[in-house]
Amino acid sequence: MIIKKLPLGPIEANTYVLFDEKSKEALIIEASGDANAIKQELDALGANLKYILLTHGHFDHVFGVNDVKKLYPDAKVFIHKEDEVLTENIALQCAHFGIDGVEKPEIDEYIDENTKLSIGDIEIKVIHTPGHSKGSVCYLLGDDLFSGDTLFFEEIGRCDLFGGSFSEIEKSIRNKIFTLDKNIAVHPGHGQDSTIGHEIKYNAYFGENSRY
Ligand SMILES: [Zn+2]
Ligand SMILES: [Zn+2]
Repeated sequence: MIIKKLPLGPIEANTYVLFDEKSKEALIIEASGDANAIKQELDALGANLKYILLTHGHFDHVFGVNDVKKLYPDAKVFIHKEDEVLTENIALQCAHFGIDGVEKPEIDEYIDENTKLSIGDIEIKVIHTPGHSKGSVCYLLGDDLFSGDTLFFEEIGRCDLFGGSFSEIEKSIRNKIFTLDKNIAVHPGHGQDSTIGHEIKYNAYFGENSRY
């Protein structure tokens, strides 16, 4: 599997392009900005875009969904049902951050932990990790975890936005993320990559050497 990372949009949320060389199928995690930049990566790989997977409904991650969908009408957009309230109220979210002109992203289907998705032979495991938002999810493909705004390099996502909860994010990270294999790479929604093992040790909130 080939992974390309594109920090896009007004506050540089990472869009990831994941490509299975064998089947030529691809998916993107988030559509955080310029749809043409995403298309360029897909074209360079000769990829067919199958899915647009959203880790949650905040505007900085869904900014480019409708534009990508215009370029790839067959690609399906997925989000957890509990974040529908965020995508439905995108204008309110944007007003809160002083940004306008973001359209409500069109969602095709809701996902949960029982949803079965794959590109080629690669299966996608959905892990529901509420805390940053109620419907936040992480996606696990083999040894790669896409953690959205739940877990960052040595940090965690903020819990003070609508639907956020510190006790929920703690449960999600300790019980569902830190129990994964230590060698799994963590690809967050903002900033640099990490590994599960690194976060278990060094995460500022829940690591062994936590400062809090
Ligand atoms: Zn967020
Ligand atoms: Zn974000």
